[in-house]
Order: sequence, then C-alpha cells, then structure tokens
Amino acid sequence: METNTSARWEKFFNRYYLGDILALANEYPEKRSLYVDFVNIEKFDPDMAEELLEHPNRVFEVAEGALRNFALPIDKTLSSAHLRVMNLPQKVSIRDLRSVHISKLIAIEGLVRMATEVRPKLLVAAFECNGCHETMYITQADGRFVEPYMCKNDECGRKGPFKIKLTDSEFVDAQKLRVQESPEDLRGGEQPQTLDINTEDDLAGIVSPGDHVVLTGVLRSYQRVTREGKSTFFDIILDSVAIETPDKEFTEIEITAEEEEAIIELSKDPKIYENVVKSIAPSIYGYAEVKEALALQLMSGVPKNLPDGARIRGDVHVLLVGDPGIAKSQLLRYIVKLAPRGIYTSGRSSSAAGLTAAAVRDEFGDGRWTLEAGALVLADQGIAAVDEMDKMRSEDRSAIHEAMEQQTISIAKAGIMATLKSRCSLLGAANPKYGRFDPYEGIAQQIKMAPALLSRFDLIFVLKDEPDVGRDSAIASHILGAHHAGELHAHRINVPGSEITQSEVADAMEVVTPEIDPDLLRKYVAYAKRKVYPILNDDARDRLIGFYLGLRKQGEDRDSPVPVTARQLEALVRLCEASARIRLCEGITIDDSERVIKIVESCLRQVAYDAETGMFDADIITTGVSKSQRDKIKVLRNIIRDLEAEHSGMAPKEDVYTRAEAEGFDKAYVEDVLGRLKTQGELYEPTPEYVRLT
Ligand code: ADP
Ligand code: MG
Repeated sequence: METNTSARWEKFFNRYYLGDILALANEYPEKRSLYVDFVNIEKFDPDMAEELLEHPNRVFEVAEGALRNFALPIDKTLSSAHLRVMNLPQKVSIRDLRSVHISKLIAIEGLVRMATEVRPKLLVAAFECNGCHETMYITQADGRFVEPYMCKNDECGRKGPFKIKLTDSEFVDAQKLRVQESPEDLRGGEQPQTLDINTEDDLAGIVSPGDHVVLTGVLRSYQRVTREGKSTFFDIILDSVAIETPDKEFTEIEITAEEEEAIIELSKDPKIYENVVKSIAPSIYGYAEVKEALALQLMSGVPKNLPDGARIRGDVHVLLVGDPGIAKSQLLRYIVKLAPRGIYTSGRSSSAAGLTAAAVRDEFGDGRWTLEAGALVLADQGIAAVDEMDKMRSEDRSAIHEAMEQQTISIAKAGIMATLKSRCSLLGAANPKYGRFDPYEGIAQQIKMAPALLSRFDLIFVLKDEPDVGRDSAIASHILGAHHAGELHAHRINVPGSEITQSEVADAMEVVTPEIDPDLLRKYVAYAKRKVYPILNDDARDRLIGFYLGLRKQGEDRDSPVPVTARQLEALVRLCEASARIRLCEGITIDDSERVIKIVESCLRQVAYDAETGMFDADIITTGVSKSQRDKIKVLRNIIRDLEAEHSGMAPKEDVYTRAEAEGFDKAYVEDVLGRLKTQGELYEPTPEYVRLT
C-alpha cells in the first residue's frame, strides 16, 4: 500500500490531531504550526514514519499539503500552515553527523551559541520587464539571488533589464543559529563541535543564545565555494522543522536505578562529608578548606523565587587568588570534570563573546548581526570555571556584576536587545598583579577587580606559596608519588613482559585515588541538586544569626569598621544548604552551621582580618585598606599637611619621621606608607629631602 498520500495523512490528522487542528484554525494565521509527535505517526503507520525519516522532503510536501487543504468546519483554510514533527526516536550527536545523514530527518540536541537577528528572506521574487512590463515570479533558493534569464513574454524575449517589485514579492522571516554540543555530553575537556541551523517563519526568533534545544530538521549539504571556484567539499546545515526547548529533564544527566541505590548507600556513610571532600582532586595535596568549599559549590544552595518576582541565587561563587604554580588551574579543571555541567575558560578567552556575551557582525557571512553567548551563558545551570580572571576584558568586567547577582546578562548593541540567562556558579582563579601576593596591598588592587565585584563572591581564598619545610616535603612526596604510580602503570601497560603487578600499581595509586569514583560523584551531585531541598532548622538558624550579629557587632562602636555585610549572611545560608545536600539530607542542622562558619571564618581571616585590631573588616575587601590602616594614614597625612603649612608648602622628611614617631609610628612603617602614597600619586618628592601632598 502506498503510504505517503494525501489521503493517508488526512486520515492520520483526523485520528490524532483533530482537536489541535481546530485550535490552530482558531488562532490562524497568528499561529501557523501544528506540532506532531513522531510516536503517533509510528503508531498510525510504521512505514509512513520510516518514509518520513528517509525521505523527508517528499513526505513533508504531501503531508503539509494535506494539512493546508484540511477541510475545516469553519470558513478558513490553513494555507500556509507548517507541520512540525517532534520527538524523534533517536538523536544524533553533532560530532557523529556523517554523509549518511544528508537529506534525512534527524534530531540533534545542544546549546545555542549564536543567533543572528531575525530578518526577512526573499522566497519568491517578482520581476518586471523594463521593455514590455510583463511580471515574472522566480522562486529563490540557496541564498543566492536569481534573476530571470529572459522575458517570458514571447513577443518581447528581451534579456533584461528587469526591475524587482518588492510589494509583489514574497518574504519569510529567517534566522540562523549555531548550536554546539552541551557541556554535559563532553568528556574530559573535549572541545564542543558546532552545527549551523536555518530557521524560518514562526521558528525564527524563538530561542536565544544559551538556550538548550532539541532540533528536528533535514540535514542539507551545500557546496563550499572558495576563491578558486566550487570545491568538491561540502558543508552541512540543518533546515529546522521543529525546535523544542526542554527545560529540566534534558539538562540533567541520566541516573539509573542501580546508580541511585549506590548514591543513597554512599550518603548513609557517616563519613560522607570527608569522602566527598577527599574525592576532589586527590592528586593535589593539601587545601582541605578550599576543597571543602568546592564540594559545597558543586552542591550549591537552593535558588528561591519570591512572590514579588525577585529571585535569590542558590549558586555559590568562589574565588581563588594566589601565587603562580600552586595548582589553581588544576583545581578548576578538576571541578569542571566533576560538575554535571561545567565549562572551563580563561579570562583571556579568544572568542568575541568572552565571558558574558557579544554582538558580532557577519559571523555567518551574510552581513547580519549575531548575538554570541559567552562562557557564563553557556554554563547556565552549571559551573563556569574562569581561569586568569584578572585578565578579563573590560566589557566582561562591567557585565559580570549583573551575571553574578541577578544571573542574567543584558546586551544592547547594534539594535540587538537581549537578556540572556546565566544561572551558574562562578569559580574564578586570579593571579596577583606582581606575580606574588603582597600582604600589604588590598586584594582588589592586586587582581584588578573592583571591590563591588569581589563582594559578590561567597568565598575568597588567598593561597600563598610560602616555603615551609614540612609542607614542601609533603607536597613533593605527594607529587612524586603520583608520578611514580603513573610510571608503574605506564610500564605495566606498555612494556611486554613487565614484572610490575596490578596490585603494585594499585598500591601506588592509593594516594591519588578518589574515595568516590568521579563518574559516580558527578551523578551524586546531579542527584543532590535535583532531589534535595534542605530547610534550616531553628538551632541552625540561631547559630547563623548569632555568628552574623557577632561580626556586625564589631562595627557598632563608632570608631570600628563595618565588618561584614548582609551578603555574607546570604552566603552562609547558601553554604549551609549545600552542606546538607552533601548528606542528601532535608534538614540543615547546627553541624552544618558550624562547618560553614568555620570555612567562612577562615576565609574572612585571610581576606578581611585586620591583624592590628584583631577584627574582621570588610573594608579590606572593598577598599584594600583596613580601617585601622586608613586611620593611621589619615594621621600621617595630617602631619604632612601641618608641616607643609609651617615650611611654605614642602614638608621636610626628617620632621615627618620625628612627629610620626611621637604618635607611635616607627620609621620603617612611615617609609612604607610614604612609598605607597607616592605610587598612588597622592604624594611626590620635589627634592629628596622634602615631600608634598598632591
Ligand atoms: P597555577 O594555576 O596556580 O599557576 P597550576 O595549576 O598550573 O598552577 O599548577 C602547576 C603544577 O604544580 C601543576 O602540575 C600542579 O599539579 C602542581 N602542583 C602545585 N601545587 C600542588 C599541590 N599542592 N599538590 C600537587 N600538585 C601541585
Ligand atoms: Mg594557572
């Protein structure tokens, strides 16, 4: 039996989609698409379904014809309706696309990386002959503009010139997309591959960069044209038939029933917390607190939507600042591998979109503006690890504030106005300006990040590479142990008749083997984020409030700095939620509070602890100088100013030292401050013996 006939399709529509077609007819022509589930076609007639996959062009012509001529009970025809087939049985991964897929109906999934503006495209051009005024219609295809060869009026027959009549021509909205493989489908730092997509009519303009999509379409090949002429190599593009933007289910990795059992089993171990922390980058020695923080970041807190439309992020942002060569980059790479969705990028990323987003011209060679998503958009609902953050571009520097707190990125350029989602946790690494961390200068200055940006991180760690015999030898033996294990393994695998046994290798590997297998841990994290929504109990809450008020109290007395802001309180809550998630536990207990307070305290101690007063001081993060230091600098400036008045505008250095000493500052300290004021341009030396404030 012939399957692909108008009558068969009509029967199919009648059986499965009568209601949908009537609903469509009501809203036609504002709505023009009938969405059909492939499963229904298969149920109706497996041969017809097969035919559709194999010869989509032929079948669509018939099927769409049947839809457009469908007899409706109202006086309307769906003369330009589209048939959109979704839910194909299989998806082809972008990297597996081959010539066998050409001209077939296929489904792919991925992440929209770029999208052009929506612009009209000429479908049928109307031409008028300048000689006899005959009108001709020429169907345009392939993106090349085709003019009549000669006038179709036999009595005229001229070869031009012809004038295009735009009002009689037919246009369709068109948009091009570039889709790349999703991060969760990539293993071990593979570079994602991309595929270009054509969308037309009501499919144009419905997705934005950063969106997850499942696309059904017909894969088409077109000949590459080089300067030398047409090439024998072909490029591929997908003409889209349907676009779905599945939200939740799709973005999550699959967990089988056995894996779920294993996960729950793991969570019951009283040492689960230690086990998770120990499974993070076991090849890197030390950094227990950092790894603990990274474990919390992986789990993340609970995002909250409030009735007033506000959204509070659940994502935890962590920044690692420190000397070179202390495994910051290694930690970042490890986390990206463990995260269910992770993207690793450098602040100096070469793509135009950088970390946030950009509008670029002519990416597809057709002169249109294209919106391209950067790392923080592509990492939506995952972790973006940004190395060398101190080197990010100035556009990113300003856009990233919004990305971190509101978790969106707005772009308004060249007529493109868009708000992209960037609901991701940021794990940043930054090297200090002079290579090494200078404890006397603020973090903000050293890594060239605005204090307002720094205050958006929930946790900031300063990692210093200070020689210390005990620690150094431990790191050395750890690193050499890892190398030794690797050597034994390589020998056993590659040298025929190697005498090294499997158990010797396993013994050596012991130190660098994670407690929990990385694949399982990745699923553990996905499971926790999907299933566990912890709630603070009263004890835990009181403990957090107590801690927070204690810190704030240091700011009560008029002279002392305002220590911590409400942001830190939010950070505490998020971290507690993450801590409970590690145990897959719905209740946040006082133990979670204690654990988190310990981490936050140690962080504050590094970045906001004023050793001179023994108090925490958020000013150190925001301005780089503690209040006690600022007060001292103020006193010094006053001394200089007084001396300037007494000595006709120039303060003798010797007098500055003596007066400062009378105030209790030693000479070395004064010299240090004078030097710093000088580099900051607040002070200069008209002669070597004098100083003057600017
Ligand atoms: P950074 O990004 O901080 O400049 P890298 O991540 O590139 O440093 O690390 C440099 C090398 O030193 C890496 O091969 C790393 O494994 C090694 N290394 C540094 N510190 C440690 C450590 N504590 N334990 C194990 N390896 C380390
Ligand atoms: Mg590095």
